[in-house]
Amino acid sequence: MNSVAYEAIIGLEVHVQLLTRSKMFCACENSYGGEPNSRTCPVCLALPGSLPVVNDEAVKMAIALGLGIHGEIRERSTFYRKQYFYPDLPKGYQITQGPVAVVENGWIEIPGDPKVRGEIQPVRIGIERAHLEEDSGKSSHDLNAKSSHVDLNRAGVPLVEIVGRPDLRSPQEASDYLKDLHRLVTFLGICDGNMEEGSFRCDANVSVRPQGQMAFGTRVEVKNINSFRNVKLALEFEIRRQIELYERGETFEQETRGWDAATGETRAQRSKEAAMDYRYFPEPDLPALTITGDEVELVRSKLPELPEARKARFMGDYGLSEYEAITVLQDRAFADYFEAVARTCGNGKQAANWMLGEVSRTLNEQGTTITKLGLLYAFLAELIQLVESRTINLMTAKEVVFPALLKGKGTPRQIVEKHGLAQVSDRGAIEALIREVLASNAAQVAQLKAGNEKLKGYLVGQIMKAGKGKVDPQLVNEILNALLAEA
Ligand SMILES: [Zn+2]
Repeated sequence: MNSVAYEAIIGLEVHVQLLTRSKMFCACENSYGGEPNSRTCPVCLALPGSLPVVNDEAVKMAIALGLGIHGEIRERSTFYRKQYFYPDLPKGYQITQGPVAVVENGWIEIPGDPKVRGEIQPVRIGIERAHLEEDSGKSSHDLNAKSSHVDLNRAGVPLVEIVGRPDLRSPQEASDYLKDLHRLVTFLGICDGNMEEGSFRCDANVSVRPQGQMAFGTRVEVKNINSFRNVKLALEFEIRRQIELYERGETFEQETRGWDAATGETRAQRSKEAAMDYRYFPEPDLPALTITGDEVELVRSKLPELPEARKARFMGDYGLSEYEAITVLQDRAFADYFEAVARTCGNGKQAANWMLGEVSRTLNEQGTTITKLGLLYAFLAELIQLVESRTINLMTAKEVVFPALLKGKGTPRQIVEKHGLAQVSDRGAIEALIREVLASNAAQVAQLKAGNEKLKGYLVGQIMKAGKGKVDPQLVNEILNALLAEA
């Protein structure tokens, strides 16, 4: 067997649809869906004589992104025509940026994958450039059997393409990098981040080489990756495929492959020989894009708090671990919600526990988002306070009150009162209950005293059960210990 260890070299190209009100070069509304071809005009339909005008809002968003990725904002960049024929591209070319992009030489930091880099440490992933361009329309081939359809509502929607350097070394790192970029653009408010609707999409360049070799192996581009999970699966598959080819002593051509999520495989789309020559040339209808230092500073002054800064603040202000802070910061709405709960209930740690526990589980189960869940943050905060004041115990909170809240059965306090859930914290009552349980479990008590510590958990369980889950567990423990010690 061959025992050569291989190293994967990965670079991602990420397309980010910008949340501008209008399209990149015309005044048509930029929004998803709608009656096909209803959001079009002579410019995005490419009617003769129409002229593009650069959307200033899109430029500001590109600058914001550039600042977020520690990039250089170019004073002067240019637009080019990338020419190819496709029915969803009415002009016969896409306007994109030329050799100089609006943003160049950026980076973001991700936790390195310990499996490929040894000890855990942050690594910087370089970003070669981020350039402005326009999206194409959409073709549908499955609306009916006899014809294909083209919808140009998306034609001309502003995009930023973020071209990462081949600095990633594992599918895990690629997924972390993608998540970080996703977090950044959604926190910046420049993209809705909706991967299903294609507002945030990714292609991956991947090659493998024997560890220690300097030269890169043959590169394959994998297209059509539309989720964080799929970026990992597609890369794992493709890396395994390439290694197997090398191990069998086979070589392969540089090519483009498509990821098929249904079969879990990448499939050949076109080889290098079939690669298109796009005949790039400068767009004669658009002047160079110039950006002054003042314009950059204006954008900088309006930047929201970015994920990195917010993570540090969550750890400092609310005592969260790094893991908790990163997880709470999975998206802006989730982070905002967490912070509202934490401020209202005054206990950030508990707020994080709930957000990462019951709330996340519910979101997963229902396949929804915090915004759509419809749970008022003030209710969750009140529930946390009810547990903290020991009005109810955690079990009642999780198993009874929280589900009732989701069903809109009232405020936490109303639910507790209506169902008589307030826990018994009367010492006398609890002591009586414990004495009863101990009396009817004399054998277990004797064994516990003989040293079988496991039986303590059993007895506590019996007591909680006898108290219908409403007794204060802390008091139960206290009193039980006292009673066991005295006898
Ligand atoms: Zn238009």
